[in-house]
Amino acid sequence: MRWYDLSEPWKRSFLQAWEAYCHGSIPIGAVLVNQDGAIMLEGRNRIHEKTAPSKQISSNRLAHAEMNVLLQLELSDYNQLEGAAIYSTMEPCIQCFGAIILSKIKQVYFAALDDKLAGGTTIKDQHGFIESRNIKVNGPHPILSEIQMILRTDFLLRYENTRSEELIAAHAIDYPLGVTLGRDYFASNKLMYIKDEPNAFPKLFDEMVIDIKKMKEAHTV
Ligand SMILES: [Zn+2]
Repeated sequence: MRWYDLSEPWKRSFLQAWEAYCHGSIPIGAVLVNQDGAIMLEGRNRIHEKTAPSKQISSNRLAHAEMNVLLQLELSDYNQLEGAAIYSTMEPCIQCFGAIILSKIKQVYFAALDDKLAGGTTIKDQHGFIESRNIKVNGPHPILSEIQMILRTDFLLRYENTRSEELIAAHAIDYPLGVTLGRDYFASNKLMYIKDEPNAFPKLFDEMVIDIKKMKEAHTV
């Protein structure tokens, strides 16, 4: 897998996650696509930022990527959501999964599982109202999840002072490889060096894929 091969919704989701990382917010991005797969809206985590575009939220613990996508919807947009899907680089949390359900979006794609922490999609079969919505949840993705974990681990080590190791340990249960690489990326300061370069992410993505492949090979020998 290379950046070039990635579908447009995943490209845009990861570009949003990278934007969040570069602004000091949690690196998670999301997009909404219509039934034809065309991008309708995109958004990102803005928890640690003072400003957000119109209708989006920032500087608040609820300023998650999926929320910043869904909050952009106008009331008149809801009748165009038949067959729409939301993509996120991380499994939607309980708040965002609730917002997706109430927005009547029936398809969710996510890159990395987050069920040891805030991930909320497993409630879909445990609540009558949610079950009645018949939501299809697709994820995790084998490679994209590791890339998400590199960004997430680097971010936690850099910005989350008190709870970083506790949160990283939870992620390492499912993603030991991505977490190990994230520690390496953090130690090398690689992401900090390139974060101000324009269009840095596609090249970084391809380098991450190579690093993931190398590490997988090293562990299967
Ligand atoms: Zn969320």
